[in-house]
Amino acid sequence: MMPTGKFLILVLLISASSVACSRLHLKKNGSDAYPEKSSSIQSDSIPVIDAHIHTGFETPKDRAEFFNQIKSARVVGAVAHTGDNGRRDYDDLRSKGVIHCFGVGSTFTRTDQDTLDQGLKSGKFSCIKIYLGYIHRYATDPFYKPAYRLAEKHGVPVVFHTGDTIDRDGKVKFADPLTIDEIAVDHRKVNFVIAHCGNPWIESAAEVAYKNPNVYLDGSAFLIGDLSKMPADKIEDYVVKPLRWIFGYVEDPTKLMFGSDWPLAPIDQYVEAFKKAIPREHWNAVFHDNALRVFPRLRKVTTQ
Ligand SMILES: [Zn+2]
Repeated sequence: MMPTGKFLILVLLISASSVACSRLHLKKNGSDAYPEKSSSIQSDSIPVIDAHIHTGFETPKDRAEFFNQIKSARVVGAVAHTGDNGRRDYDDLRSKGVIHCFGVGSTFTRTDQDTLDQGLKSGKFSCIKIYLGYIHRYATDPFYKPAYRLAEKHGVPVVFHTGDTIDRDGKVKFADPLTIDEIAVDHRKVNFVIAHCGNPWIESAAEVAYKNPNVYLDGSAFLIGDLSKMPADKIEDYVVKPLRWIFGYVEDPTKLMFGSDWPLAPIDQYVEAFKKAIPREHWNAVFHDNALRVFPRLRKVTTQ
């Protein structure tokens, strides 16, 4: 989630240091990195699952724009995040291929926990979202323990906002992706998603996903806004290069999922940028199959 401008130096530093880490890492782990490689020739247009969107439509026009977007980007499924204990941004779009995560609010009472339990049971919710940084608590805070317990009970993943907060009142120390390692170790039966790959702390996010079999990444919102109005080298530097490095570092094509964070970025434009970072033979994994594994309830709703 990245407003433009303020992060230039940080990102440059990361780009420079990434090269050295990547070499060490590859040397350590050998070259047999991509077991799903396929040499078949396929079309550039593929069905897409967007693993990170929001559906808080304020007007019928917003809603129509969303349906235009999913048509133009060939989106057959999507994962939307609600807020305020499921009360904000919920819209039952399962018939259109969209599932919703229950977004844990700044309070999480026994009643809210019951709402989550019931919502996961009924199918209203299919995952849990935790807004690290926006809510001033670490992932390890006992406050979130009931959420992890319910995720395990219902077999659904927990998605963490990580990295920059678009809100200046966010406190980013809570949104450091390195903090997800402890949660992943202590809750091995739950799958976790590090949203935004912790951007700009992408190295920590990649390492936590690389090390832990139950941690995945969504690469949403590396830039937000109208990408068609941005210079190509900006998209290359802040979307393509970091995602390419992350994909290489984790040495497992099942780890990274496409996500746009729509409406913050147009889905079709973000797909095109994202594709440049991922070798063609792994598009089906990154743009579709991985999300189906991480969010098992998508299988019931995808529209293809
Ligand atoms: Zn988001």
